Amino acid sequence: MLLFCSGDIDSISMMISGLKIFSDTIGLQVSAEKSEIYLAGMSPREHEVIKNVSGFKIGKLPFTYLGVPIDTKKITPIECELLIDKMCRRIKSWSSWNLSYSGRLQLWVHAVYIKDQKWEDHNPPITASWIWKGICKLRDEIHAIVQQQTSTQYKIKGVCRLLMPAENNVNWSRNFWCRYSVPKPRFITWLAMRSRLYTRDRLLNFDLVQDATCVLCSNDIETHDHLFFQCLCSVMILQQITQWMGYDSTSHSLHSILHKCGNIRGNRMKKRALLVAIAATVYGVWKLRNDMKDDPTLDNKAVLDILRALSEK
Ligand SMILES: [Zn+2]
Repeated sequence: MLLFCSGDIDSISMMISGLKIFSDTIGLQVSAEKSEIYLAGMSPREHEVIKNVSGFKIGKLPFTYLGVPIDTKKITPIECELLIDKMCRRIKSWSSWNLSYSGRLQLWVHAVYIKDQKWEDHNPPITASWIWKGICKLRDEIHAIVQQQTSTQYKIKGVCRLLMPAENNVNWSRNFWCRYSVPKPRFITWLAMRSRLYTRDRLLNFDLVQDATCVLCSNDIETHDHLFFQCLCSVMILQQITQWMGYDSTSHSLHSILHKCGNIRGNRMKKRALLVAIAATVYGVWKLRNDMKDDPTLDNKAVLDILRALSEK
């Protein structure tokens, strides 16, 4: 990854603190051994200060990034030779493992099923796998839909809307699916909203567990509604977070909490920060539940005592 900033010590210090916040939030650490700083238009003294402040080595231009030479000057055809060689080798070995998963799948489908036919005319053989038969059936359904459309212009978005059931937009989505929210908590919250996490009530339905009792409180069946947020343990965590954010939430339903957050008037940044905090809480509760499930030494009574002590502070 390449990061750019203005050639002064203040900007570089700000970028390094940004990297630290990133590491503290995501957990990924920047490797000082594998990282280099490239400086231009700065004095040797400034080079030394930046080297000491950042802990990174000072690199020299030109360097190669993903096979492409990076320099302050215009790159020459000779410098691009390595890149051209790499591209040629990749094109020549298109049938090898260098292809992406979808590329290999496409190659396999053409070699095994479609062969020299047109995709529109292909009928799956009886011996074809059920997945392939399903794809061909879906193709026919889409084809029928496209033909019914009054618009002559084919749009994937239009077909997708016709195939998917219409759902109302929620008032918090714009501020939730923004660049401020961290992807993993955001995704787990989305799964929780759709009741798609593998909670113990679902695992019991699949016969994968014998007991659906909540790992966190041992007081009720572990469902999505219970975990977010009717469970004594998750409620205490949510209260801590929302109070810290200056928002008083009395709701015990994730849907209702997000809806209320969407209705907050005023500062958009505050609203986004609150939604980010709620997503982080959902992720934190889910992670705690997984940690407790996987580690029998983690006692739910001890966890509850810690949470009670925190809420009494
Ligand atoms: Zn519980």
